Amino acid sequence: MRPGIIQRIFDDHFPSVDATHQLDRRARTAAWDIRTCRTHLQGYHVDACPNGDYSVVLNNSCGHRSCPLCGATETQLWLERQLAKEIRCPHHQIVFTSPGSLQPLWRWNRQLFMNLYFRAAWHSLRELLADAKHLGALPGVIAVFQSWNDELGEHLHLHFIVTSGGVDPNGKWVAANADFLVCAETLMRKFRGKFLAYLRAAFSTHTPTGKAKSEVLLPPPGRSVQQCLNLFNKLGRQPWHIQVDPAMPYAHGAIKYVGHYIRRGPISERRILSYNGDRVVIAYAHPGKHDSATFTLDARTFVLRLLSHVPQRGTHCVRAYGLYHSECREKLNQARTYHSQPSYQPESEPPDKHELIHRMFPDFTADLCPKCHARLRTIFVERHAHSPPQRRAA
Ligand SMILES: [Zn+2]
Ligand SMILES: [Zn+2]
Repeated sequence: MRPGIIQRIFDDHFPSVDATHQLDRRARTAAWDIRTCRTHLQGYHVDACPNGDYSVVLNNSCGHRSCPLCGATETQLWLERQLAKEIRCPHHQIVFTSPGSLQPLWRWNRQLFMNLYFRAAWHSLRELLADAKHLGALPGVIAVFQSWNDELGEHLHLHFIVTSGGVDPNGKWVAANADFLVCAETLMRKFRGKFLAYLRAAFSTHTPTGKAKSEVLLPPPGRSVQQCLNLFNKLGRQPWHIQVDPAMPYAHGAIKYVGHYIRRGPISERRILSYNGDRVVIAYAHPGKHDSATFTLDARTFVLRLLSHVPQRGTHCVRAYGLYHSECREKLNQARTYHSQPSYQPESEPPDKHELIHRMFPDFTADLCPKCHARLRTIFVERHAHSPPQRRAA
């Protein structure tokens, strides 16, 4: 459907959702931004011709990372940076799924839970692959946290895109077996043990050396810490789902797939096939996995599901580890040299928004001066309050 359909659904249904649910500031800010993106409520900016013969006043975009109208240029910038770093070797995908019974803990501790989740998965993989029995080398990983399933319900999992090989302590490339990077069962046991241990430790208010911690895990409402610890004990005895795929020849397809989720939330507007004011018909992202090509949600459920996936402000849902981490430049270049690639050189000055738009859409003309065809420049920005109205007292 046309761009702005999610804004329309939110305009129609968010007020009644807000009136009947205790939404937190995270969700209300996202809803406010989605509803006011590119309207006068976000302020305005002036784009002008550098030769002085034309200028135009435009409403600001909201810039919220869960807004479907925003984020195209940030996504492009991220993709360009990742693809510039890519090691031209096969890559595996690993999916670390956490049990559904941990979801209430995540809802109540979004940032800390996600940090521990990433850390446990990376530490498990790094330890196993550092062992000479498995690989004896450091791989490169791009990792993304996703909280949704195909119907936009809650389903917490991490996608890891992992080099099929790594750099050993002597700086030499060690190739992995393309069909078998690591045993999923071994990885699952290590990850399950570490994640549960990190969660247990996160309940204590002090470090083992007696220092007060800045972040402590809180039990969800209606549950005690002891009940959570009992749940962890039970989960420690159950199998978790970890999937390790055979290698794909290169990473760029997977990087592009992941890149499309670093902004704009779990769904692109293109997947919304129809909206009749009440019900939303949505195309599955992976229709091959389902009996039907589409699913339908009532609009209030759609709004609630989208809001449930809005990350806490400031959290990084996409991270780089090992050879792809920014502090691992030397080892990254050792790997690139082995694969006959030039050393990675980051762009010193990130390109501006207009430059990125032209890289993405070479035929784009809406930001050219109608008289001299020079590219317009933003010369003035007026931002309005970037916060939602407070909930009125009953
Ligand atoms: Zn926006
Ligand atoms: Zn001009």
